[in-house]
Amino acid sequence: MNESGQVCCSRIWDRYYGSYPCRRRGKVDRDGKWYCGIHDPVRRKEKQDARDAAWRAKQEVHDKAWRRRVAEAKACSGITTEDLESGVIGRLWGEYLMKIAQE
Ligand SMILES: [Zn+2]
Repeated sequence: MNESGQVCCSRIWDRYYGSYPCRRRGKVDRDGKWYCGIHDPVRRKEKQDARDAAWRAKQEVHDKAWRRRVAEAKACSGITTEDLESGVIGRLWGEYLMKIAQE
């Protein structure tokens, strides 16, 4: 805890006024520089890493769903929509399973 009245060493960027010093009280000392809770580089990295991990997890779900769609499109190429709606894939799959069971 900062008892000496140190303020955060970060600068805040403003699109109209340029940059100005953060006026918050320094909470943590990182290599001799004080940072407030918002600008603490360690905390910021942890938050960014958590955001990155969440994004990667979401992307993996999306990629898996996309792979499935591509595989389904390949498996169904050349078959009309009407045949797909009639359940032709299920019947063909059933016939295939019966055939290999008899071999
Ligand atoms: Zn700050």
